[in-house]
Parts: sequence; C-alpha cells; structure tokens
Amino acid sequence: MAEAASRLRERGVTKIHGIGAPGGRDETPWIGPDGQVMRRLELHLTYTCPERCAFCSEAHRMSRFKAFPVTFGRVASVLRTHASRGVRALHITGGEPTIHPRFLDTLKLARKLGMRTSVGTIGTMLQRPAFAAEVLPFLDEALFSLHGPTAELHDELAGRPGSFDQVTAAIRTCRSLDPEFGAFVNTVLCRRNLDALPDTLRLADSLGASLIIVSNTTPEGDGYDRFDELAPRLDELTAAMAALPTDELKATLRIFGVPMCLLGEHAMLSNDMHWDPRVTVEWASKPGKVVFDDFFNWNPGRKRVHVEACASCSRKGLCQGVWDRYAELWPVDALQAKP
Ligand code: SF4
Repeated sequence: MAEAASRLRERGVTKIHGIGAPGGRDETPWIGPDGQVMRRLELHLTYTCPERCAFCSEAHRMSRFKAFPVTFGRVASVLRTHASRGVRALHITGGEPTIHPRFLDTLKLARKLGMRTSVGTIGTMLQRPAFAAEVLPFLDEALFSLHGPTAELHDELAGRPGSFDQVTAAIRTCRSLDPEFGAFVNTVLCRRNLDALPDTLRLADSLGASLIIVSNTTPEGDGYDRFDELAPRLDELTAAMAALPTDELKATLRIFGVPMCLLGEHAMLSNDMHWDPRVTVEWASKPGKVVFDDFFNWNPGRKRVHVEACASCSRKGLCQGVWDRYAELWPVDALQAKP
C-alpha cells in the first residue's frame, strides 16, 4: 500500500486513502494538486492501426507494444477500478480502437459502470452500417480523424488510399442511424494541410460534426521524428488562425496545441480553457518488463512550455505556451505577451 501511494503522489495525486486495502475496492476519488476531481479515463485499447498517418503521435508506442494485446480481462479491471474512483467518462483510443475484438463489450461494460463513452477513430468499422447499428446504442460520441477536404490530401496524410472515403462514410453512417449522435471531428494541422484548413472545417461542418478540434502537430511519435517537415511555423499558424471561417460554422470549434496569442480574436477557442483532467491507461516500459499503467494528467500542458515572452503575459495562467520541441528548434519571436 505504501509503495502504491508513493507512486501516485509522484504523479501529483494528492489525496489518496486505502490503496490496496483489503476487503474491497477503494472508492475514494482521485483528487489533483489543485483539488480537481478526476472524471475522465483515456484507454489505449489497441496498438494496431490500418492507417499510417504522417504525424501519428502513437507511432513509437505502436511499434514497441504491438506484440502486447490488451485483453478484455485487463480492460474490465481498469474500468472497474476507475469507475469506483468516480471516473464517469471513457474515451477509447489506440491505434484504431474499433478493430479490437472486444470493442463493443468494452462500451457495454463502461455504460454498465455509469460512464459516458467516446472513441477516437478514423472510421474503420463505423463505416459499416451493421457494425455501427450494433455499437451506437452504447456509444455517446466519436471523434473522427479528418485531415483534409479532399481524398487526395487526406489520403496522402493518412498514408492509405480510401481513408477519406472511409471516414466520411463513417460519419454519414452514424449520423443517418442516429441524427442526435455526437459526431465530432479532429483534424491534425501540419504544413501540408494548413492552407486547406478552412475547407476542411467547412466539410466537417457539412457532414454534421457538432464539435471540430483543430490539433496542431504534436512533437511525439512520428510527429516528433518529422517535426521539422510537419510543424507549422508560428507566423504560418497566426495567418491560418486569422483565416478561420468561424462565422460560417454551426459546429463548436476548439484549437489544441496553439499558443493563445496566435489565435487573435479567436483566443477563447483555445482548448487550454476547455480541457478536463484525465487518467491515461496504456502500456509502458519499466525496467525488465512492460506494464499496463496509469498516467495522471491534471492540466493540458503536456509537452508545452512557457518561454521568456510569457513571463509578463496575463494569460500565462490559462495558456500552456508553445511546444517544447518548437522552442528548442526555432525562434519564438511571434509570441506576443498580453499585458
Ligand atoms: S505569450 Fe506565452 S503565455 Fe502568453 S499567450 Fe503567448 S504563448 Fe501563451
């Protein structure tokens, strides 16, 4: 018990009681350093994916852990533990989670434990009406990956011909089966699709997405290895944010991984202000072994840093700054502290 408690304190989980206490499951909520209650679980259900996205943040983990399937027994244990601690929302991620043979069972168990359910997907299985019809009664939301407004651009970035048709078909299928379904879109922003962003947003909106997240290339996995080639420079981001067609969109828009000072009049769209603490459960390497481990994130600042310009910025408490890798590689003069 002492060892488990110490391990969690190292991760910033400040109020913990009775870890591993005999006589049943502990039901004390996970409480963060500023008193936040952990409500969201992100579960990596698989390390396999049919696509090869240019900026895949999971590429390293997928090659390292693809020989370690996530069994349903392990999933059930994770869900029960976190449900008993007050976690009320499950987001399933991967790889491509819909291809996991127990994907539906995972959703059913999460619902039974009182959780809302969502999945991050490129539509591999949800494009199939029969599969979607079976799954949707247990799925509240899906975050579909759409990286361009045309098959040519999206397929180039996803690394597989047919990917665009697949994901757009999946969104249409889910929306036609359930017009109230929470169809969301995530579009990863890189130098290759920057100019096409307004049209990507218009397409996602026309497909019925109620939430669109624009995610700046994250320096992780292939996104790290190819950061020089992929990462939009700050002046390019500033221009792209100024061209957002917000007046045309019915969908709610959120911008992830972009410093707030580059968002201009759209600063309030920053995902830094619309972010929930989350515990991520995934395979991790430990000395001599691989473990399915919990990682507690209490703020959205992962891989972001404040630089000199941020010191006097009145938004420093809200904005998480610029990618650490960006600040290592390139000038950050375009950042403008807000008085
Ligand atoms: S100056 Fe720094 S803290 Fe302020 S908005 Fe820009 S990146 Fe964020």
